[in-house]
Amino acid sequence: MGSGKVTSTSELFDFQGKHVTVAGLGVSGVPAAKVLHARGATVTVVNDGDDARAREQAAELEALGITVRLGDGATLPEGTELIVTAPGWKPDKPLFLAAEKAGVPVWGDVELAWRLRGPEAAPWLAVTGTNGKTTTVQMLASILKAAGLRTAAVGNIGVSLLDAVLGEERYDVLAVELSSYQLHWAPSLRAHSAAVLNLAPDHLDWHGSMEAYAHDKGRIYEGNRVACVYNVEDKATEDLVREADVEEGCRAIGFTLGAPAPSQFGVVDGILVDRAFVENRQKNAQELAEVSDVNPSAPHNIANALAAAALARAFGVPAQAVRDGLRSFRPDAHRIAHVADIDSVAYVDDSKATNTHAAEASLASYESIVWIAGGLAKGATFDELVAKSAKRLRGAVLIGADRALIRDALARHAPEVPVVDLDRTDTEAMLQAVREAKRLAQPGDTVLLAPACASMDMFTNYNQRGDAFAAAVRELGA
Ligand code: ADP
Repeated sequence: MGSGKVTSTSELFDFQGKHVTVAGLGVSGVPAAKVLHARGATVTVVNDGDDARAREQAAELEALGITVRLGDGATLPEGTELIVTAPGWKPDKPLFLAAEKAGVPVWGDVELAWRLRGPEAAPWLAVTGTNGKTTTVQMLASILKAAGLRTAAVGNIGVSLLDAVLGEERYDVLAVELSSYQLHWAPSLRAHSAAVLNLAPDHLDWHGSMEAYAHDKGRIYEGNRVACVYNVEDKATEDLVREADVEEGCRAIGFTLGAPAPSQFGVVDGILVDRAFVENRQKNAQELAEVSDVNPSAPHNIANALAAAALARAFGVPAQAVRDGLRSFRPDAHRIAHVADIDSVAYVDDSKATNTHAAEASLASYESIVWIAGGLAKGATFDELVAKSAKRLRGAVLIGADRALIRDALARHAPEVPVVDLDRTDTEAMLQAVREAKRLAQPGDTVLLAPACASMDMFTNYNQRGDAFAAAVRELGA
C-alpha cells in the first residue's frame, strides 16, 4: 500500500536564531508563536486588535519571552526574516506589501506545518474546492481507516495541522482539508495526491479576482507525486491540473457522475467504479460501492465520494475498504440533514449551503421543493441559481438582510412560484418561515433550508441557523 514517506528534507527549515514575525494571534497564531519560539526563533507577534482576549493571549506569550505588539498589525518589525501569518489575513495588507518590498517570505499555518514535519512524516492527501471539502476529507479518512491505516481528517477541520505533524500520534497518511486562503500562503507544499472538487466564485473580495482564486486553489496540485484528481464536469478543475508542475509519472484522474473513461472514476448502473487504478484500464473497471452506500446519496455527494475514493485508491487502498469506509461515514450536522417527515413532507436542513454553488447542488437533490433561503449575500447574484432551479420550486420563503436579491431573481426567472417575504429578524422568524413553508408544501414535497447566503445577519453561524430550523420543524410537527 501507499508508497510514500517524505524522503526529501531539503525544504525543512532551521529556525534557530531567525527573526520571525507572527501575524495575528488566535487559533493558529498562538500555537505558531510557541512552536517557533521553542525551535529557537526570536518571535514577535503583531495583532490588529487590542481587546481583553488579545491581552490575555499576549500575556501568556510574553511570559515565555515572546514579544507581542497589540493594536498594530500593519508595521513590519525591524529585522524580520520571515512572516508566519494567520490564513485569513488579506494579501493586500500593508504588512505584506512591506514584506514583499523587503524580500521577506510569508508563510501561512499550512506552510509552517509542512516545513516542521519530520523526515519520517506521513504523506498528505489534500482536498480543496468551493464546496464539499469537509465532507470529502471525512469520507477519505473513513476509507483510510477502513483500510487499517492510522490517519486523521486535519486542516480546516478536526485536528489542527500543527498538532498532526508535531503531536505524539503517529500517522500513516493524513487527509488534509485546505482552504483557498491556506493554499495562497503555502508555496512549498507538495502533496502525495490532491483533489480540486469544483470551482465557483467565492471569497473574491479576498483573492481580488476569480483568476487569482483559481490560481490559489490550483497550488494544491503543485509537485503532486501520484495523482491530481479533478472533476470531469467542472472544466476549470481540469485546467488547473494541466497548468500544474507535477512530479514525473503523476497521473491526472477525473471523476464523473457518468460512465468513466479510462483513468477516471464514475458511476455505472448505480455502482461507483474505478477505471484508473486497475490493470488494463482500457477494458476493465473495479467496482467500489453502490450509490446507496453514500450517505446522503444526493448527486453532489456521490461526486464527493468519488473524489475521496480516487485519492484513497491513489494511495493503494483496496476496493473493499472504499465501500466499508463510505458505509460507515456519517456527514456532519447541517449538511442535507433529514430533520423529520410531517404529513408526507420531508424537512431537510442544509444550513451549510452558504453560497449559491452549494445551494444549487442542494436544490438539484430534490424534485419538488419549498425553498427557505436568504441571509447575507456576500456580493453574490442569484439569477443563475434561480433559473436553473425554477422548475423544482413549489414555493419559496425568504428571510434575512439580502432577501430582496433572491425575490427579484425569482420574479425574473420563476414568476409563477409563490414567494413569502419575511420582514423580521427576531428569534421567532425561523418558526414563521417554517410555518409558511408548511403551508405551501404538498405531500411528497421537501421543505429545504438551503439559504445560499451566510447567516450572520440573523444568527451566530450556520449551526445556529440550522438548529433554529430543526427546532421550528419539531415544534410544528408536535
Ligand atoms: P466545505 O467544507 O467546502 O464548506 P462541506 O462538505 O461542509 O463543504 O459542504 C458544504 C455545503 O456545500 C453542503 O451543505 C452542500 O450544500 C454543498 N456541497 C457539498 N458538496 C458539494 C459539491 N461537491 N458540490 C456542490 N455543493 C456541495
